[in-house]
Amino acid sequence: MTASSIQTIADIRTAMAEGLTAVDICAQYLERIAAHDGPIHAFTHVAKEQALERAESIDRRGAEDPDLPLAGVPVAVKDNICTRGLPTTASSRILEGFVAPYDATVIDRLTKAGAVVIGKTNCDEFAMGSTTEHSVSGPTHNPWDLERVPGGSSGGSAAAVAARLSPIAVGSDTGGSIRQPAAFCGIVGLKPTYGRVSRYGLLAFASSLDQIGPFALTVSDAATLLQAIAGQDSCDATSAVEAVPAFDAALREPVPNPTIGVPWQILEDGVDPDVHTAFSAAIDVLRGQGAKIVDVPLPHAGYAVPTYYVVAPAEASSNLARYDGVRYAYRAPVDAAGADLTSMYDRTRDTGFGDEVKRRIMLGTYTLSAGYYDAYYLKAQQVRTLIRRDYDTAFERVDAIAMPTTPTPAFGLGERSDDPLQLYMGDVFTASANLTGLPAISLPCGYGASGLPVGLQLTGRAFDEETLLRLGAGYERDAPWWRDTPPAAAIRG
Ligand code: GLN
Repeated sequence: MTASSIQTIADIRTAMAEGLTAVDICAQYLERIAAHDGPIHAFTHVAKEQALERAESIDRRGAEDPDLPLAGVPVAVKDNICTRGLPTTASSRILEGFVAPYDATVIDRLTKAGAVVIGKTNCDEFAMGSTTEHSVSGPTHNPWDLERVPGGSSGGSAAAVAARLSPIAVGSDTGGSIRQPAAFCGIVGLKPTYGRVSRYGLLAFASSLDQIGPFALTVSDAATLLQAIAGQDSCDATSAVEAVPAFDAALREPVPNPTIGVPWQILEDGVDPDVHTAFSAAIDVLRGQGAKIVDVPLPHAGYAVPTYYVVAPAEASSNLARYDGVRYAYRAPVDAAGADLTSMYDRTRDTGFGDEVKRRIMLGTYTLSAGYYDAYYLKAQQVRTLIRRDYDTAFERVDAIAMPTTPTPAFGLGERSDDPLQLYMGDVFTASANLTGLPAISLPCGYGASGLPVGLQLTGRAFDEETLLRLGAGYERDAPWWRDTPPAAAIRG
């Protein structure tokens, strides 16, 4: 196997069985990053020394424990997930220089499975955004077209995997931040059920919506990564006790006679024709494989975006109160005239947070304030229940619900920077899975006329990631889009 043909976890396993070491694999990915990440800017920090040291220890341990599921597999980590000894900034000035004193549970589990953290990836500040443009270190570029956004907020993780700079990555998804960048970059991204993966060590954005999940080139790699990080954790009271099935084994069995619901009505307006065409072709593939396709109404789906943009900022305004210049990294310099504590808080938050984060804090503080709480926050929580009921009703007769992940393919960098409302509307198909807590996967399903990837989203029943992975693996067998490499990739497929 030639060095440049290594792309997936299976490739790494084969290469190691043929004699390559974890250090060789790690060195090869570090070289790819050094040679190709410049114009992409997926990484905010490359953990060169630590990764090589870790790979060395895997090589020593591997001999004793040949079954480590991720032995020597590099993993890129979104910069809002705590990693001991490496920077964790959530791409915010307010956390400039912050080094977490502990590993997030997902990092701990990945390390135990043999994975090697290769670096931290760029994101929208505190995961608030859909473009990875709101980052203190500058935007990430889409490997399919460097003039376009990679999506967000986990744009760095998605771009790293798409460009073959890391075989797998982890990110967080509060309203679509794993699935939307996965769609824009032509890879697989999965938001697990709320509670499936521990959030201990994830810098909180909106605690009733946040989930950590995998990015990968293939469904099978996403399943292997999910397997490693899923399961209850005593450090996160919201992590669920549900048993974690053996995802890898399940993938080998197709779902017998699946019924897939499509909410055709909500796809009538505002969906780019290229996206509609690629999505319809994907539905035809599923139908051709024996799936029964039925229409499902989701009458409250149209309220998902306004509901999300009340709930998420409200929770964010509370979660971000802790960044005050006292407890964490950044403190604004205080001149003698304003040397009291309150002005230090004010100036730290004013200069430490970017505009989008400040917009969310203000929105959230407003909707939670006395006199407005009932009209906004409480109402949004009620609508949230209605949205969940739509899904519960649909799941009485379908195994999964399919829709495009995003209404458009990747748009130009800077194109929507001045129009937050238009950006928010881009979350129209993703936000419901967070509001309802349900699992959802984005799979690459072809290209628009401009050659940009389009994503197919499948949403499943609570704690039924298995069905999504099995359907996804079946689709991928007949539609292996992942084999195409983007122009800016470190290897040519
Ligand atoms: N685009 C959404 C937002 O800006 C979702 C972000 C996310 O999932 N972290 O809030």
